[in-house]
Amino acid sequence: MIVAPKIRGFICTTAHPVGCAQHVQQQIDVVKSRGPISNAPKKVLVIGSSTGYGLSSRIAAAFGGGAATLGVFFERPGAADRTGTAGWYNTAAFEKAAQADGLYARSFNGDAYSDAMKQTVIDAIKADLGQVDCVIYSLASPRRTEPKTGEVFKSVLKPIGETYTNKNLNTTNGEVNEVSIPPAQGDDVEQTVAVMGGADWELWLDALLAAGVLAEGTRTVAYSYIGPELTWPIYKNGTIGKAKEDLERVQRALDTKLAPLNGKAWVSVNKALVTQASSAIPVVPLYISLLYQVMKARGTHEDTIEQMDRLFRDRLYSGHPQPDEAGRIRVDDWEMDPEVQALIDQRWNEVDTANLKELADFDGYQSSFLRLFGFGLDGVDYTADVDTALPVPSIPAEA
Ligand code: NAD
Repeated sequence: MIVAPKIRGFICTTAHPVGCAQHVQQQIDVVKSRGPISNAPKKVLVIGSSTGYGLSSRIAAAFGGGAATLGVFFERPGAADRTGTAGWYNTAAFEKAAQADGLYARSFNGDAYSDAMKQTVIDAIKADLGQVDCVIYSLASPRRTEPKTGEVFKSVLKPIGETYTNKNLNTTNGEVNEVSIPPAQGDDVEQTVAVMGGADWELWLDALLAAGVLAEGTRTVAYSYIGPELTWPIYKNGTIGKAKEDLERVQRALDTKLAPLNGKAWVSVNKALVTQASSAIPVVPLYISLLYQVMKARGTHEDTIEQMDRLFRDRLYSGHPQPDEAGRIRVDDWEMDPEVQALIDQRWNEVDTANLKELADFDGYQSSFLRLFGFGLDGVDYTADVDTALPVPSIPAEA
């Protein structure tokens, strides 16, 4: 079928298989162009491996470190008359490229929050690799079913205490307007922490430890965000920020649990980037558009792959993780550069619909968003008929 983008607010309901493959290949090329990563882990489990930061982590581990990788995600396969999700096509392309380079890659499509998925992955590790030495936790989800009680938690993006009003970007038409988000109510904070906090990261590590499938020296990393003060009411000090605080609680607990293996748990604070998860957060897309403009002009702009390559190469496996005062790895350092933030502060006050394209990289925002779904990539013929039903090689076709 011929596949075109179908955008509904902050999601695109179609994905282009050839474009997604090209997007994955470009990420592989970035990592390979930087040469092998020294002391990289050899057997890596990535939870949330199909898009965004998790996909780039898997690519950096495999094509920079030569690692065998296992990936877990929740995606929809395509059919002859309907496209699958981008994460499905990304994984199909990743596995093909890994196979071509002689790298082990196996993927699991289903609910990472469930006990059944944890057991399936443990069985696969035992059967194929014996142990893993690195576990990346990169899930972003609006809901989570607690495996023991069956309770369904829902995460919300709300300020805490009072209504937050600020500028906002309509990413479909480029209108800069204002948004007011009412504060969290009832158990919104607890629900959000239950989904996006550290509980499931800890359950994964507990299960892997109990099964004896973590190697000596295992490292595990979960991803966080802090950002500038202008987004704090909706991010750092909002419901999602409470969940990110909970990740740090779990990081300390995991440090203790991994100590007998000489292992280490980290929280890595990453840069704000266009991903399926971040495009849903109010205010953040305008901030990202301003950020891209400033960082591209300074030559410090990175996408998820450059971020994850730097995380593996210069922090996690360099012997110099450079933790901050709270023990977190900071690959948001170039974003948080005071000169970058001073320019953004100034432009934040000035930006409106009329000057958006001058002050902010709205074109860059939109093209990054489309690329997430495989659209707008050079060298792809978007008028051609493509196979939308392509499989992920390691996932058996459904009966
Ligand atoms: P994303 O939406 O691109 O990726 C989410 C991943 O989680 C996908 O692989 C998806 O399939 C998987 N997933 C979701 N629900 C699942 C489930 N129930 N079972 C199995 N897999 C499931 O998101 P992202 O932006 O890459 O976010 C990953 C992490 O990075 C999050 O913790 C996020 O807060 C953090 N982070 C993001 C940014 C940013 O700007 N995007 C910045 C810093 C940190």
